[in-house]
Amino acid sequence: MRPDFPLPDTEWEPTREYWAAAARGELAVPRCRACGAYAWYPAQSCPACGHSSFTWTTMSGRGQLFAWTVVRHAFLPQFSAEVPYVPALVALDEDPAVRIVTRIVDCDPTHLSVDLPVRVVFRPLSFPGIDREVIAPYFTPEQG
Ligand SMILES: [Zn+2]
Repeated sequence: MRPDFPLPDTEWEPTREYWAAAARGELAVPRCRACGAYAWYPAQSCPACGHSSFTWTTMSGRGQLFAWTVVRHAFLPQFSAEVPYVPALVALDEDPAVRIVTRIVDCDPTHLSVDLPVRVVFRPLSFPGIDREVIAPYFTPEQG
């Protein structure tokens, strides 16, 4: 296990640019150079046409809430300080088939609903005992 677990591995090649973009305050997804399809989660070849060359593309950061839950009891001790938190899948406006695994922040979870418009925000993700943080794309309701 990496010593900085459970921080995401920002050096892992398939998602390195995702985390680098987040550190710049951008949400980026690989897009096929041949057919223009978004390929998320990153894959060796395009799920639409099989081409194997991608361009990381900055997205609007807007989407709709697809699914979520409220975690009230930490499964891993490192998450104890985080609860309650709201892991979620957000479908992006550019292509709702692109669903980002994220968290919903800055809202009362009882106000969430399917297809709620959300927008990306960037927050440091850190854990007790790890002297490093990762800027992560989270989402918050578009209204209030
Ligand atoms: Zn393609």
